[in-house]
Amino acid sequence: MAVSVDLIAKAEQTHRLELAEIAGLLGEADCEQQLAAAADRVRSAYVGDDVHLRGLIEFSNVCRRDCSYCGLRRDNTRIDRYRLSEDDIVELARKAKGYGYRTVVLQSGEDLYFSIDRLCRIIRRIKALGMVITLSIGERSYEEYQAFREAGADRYLLRIETTDPALYAAFNPGMQLADRIRCTEELKTLGYEVGTGTLVGLPGQTMEMIARDILWYQAIDADMLGVGPLIPNADTPLGEAEPGDWHLTRRLVSLLRLLLPEANIPATTAMETMMPHGREIILNSGANVVMPNVTEGDYRRKYALYPGKICVADTPADCRACMSGRIKVLGRFVAQDEGFRRHQDREV
Ligand code: SF4
Repeated sequence: MAVSVDLIAKAEQTHRLELAEIAGLLGEADCEQQLAAAADRVRSAYVGDDVHLRGLIEFSNVCRRDCSYCGLRRDNTRIDRYRLSEDDIVELARKAKGYGYRTVVLQSGEDLYFSIDRLCRIIRRIKALGMVITLSIGERSYEEYQAFREAGADRYLLRIETTDPALYAAFNPGMQLADRIRCTEELKTLGYEVGTGTLVGLPGQTMEMIARDILWYQAIDADMLGVGPLIPNADTPLGEAEPGDWHLTRRLVSLLRLLLPEANIPATTAMETMMPHGREIILNSGANVVMPNVTEGDYRRKYALYPGKICVADTPADCRACMSGRIKVLGRFVAQDEGFRRHQDREV
């Protein structure tokens, strides 16, 4: 434990650790509180006490991919598929603005129905509302990323889930780790703020593998980092797998804050699905972003990445009021700015 305390101090001061040091802290259950406390100090110093709210619009649950852990996977016949119309997506964005959100996150499976033309139209219409736009729609060509960027998209979430080649190949059939990395690099080149992250609990995943994920996030200078535990979905090949370790995921969030101090890090819905008040705990362990759902009605339930997803019966107005109250109780406040990454070497 004494070694862990020294390592946490080193991480807090230098924001650098070696692979073995990161793996050691990830595996050290006893250091969770100290890690969280150090991450909370770094969070306050680098990104402040405000919490960014991003309104999440889940606009299609159609996906051409077949990831073994995901309820939206192509081969899952037990899910009701849906696509929102262009007008409905823009209307949800308009409502998100009414709730006071400055950013909307447009999220879907990899659904090629949403072509360059369709998506660019939607992006332009939402930009005209004065919103910041994050896309989370999977792997596309450089030309598509460029067109979306030129239409006004600001940020892009493309979680790598794991940087381990064997693990990636095992659970992302038909996909290539090299493609994922190339897409991430292209998004960076095009000037997006880029988000990535780890899925904790893939069978066979080791602490060293997760530590290598973190070093890769540092190497690409990731702007946003979203991590969550595997929540087995009975309609997927990993339905019988062990759930991901919530506490390990919390230690990972804290290490990400210590080692990428400027990054925007969400307290993800998956963390609360596994633990009551999980998002508050994670907001006190290094996170500074929450993504309340703006999707309405039955579509919330149908966007079934994993079972037991929280708040599916709530309205977007409920989510807004609930999250604001919970943030206040933590002694934090809802950010009023657009929520871009705060670089230490320049004013926002
Ligand atoms: S993780 Fe993404 S790409 Fe994979 S099946 Fe689910 S929605 Fe599709």
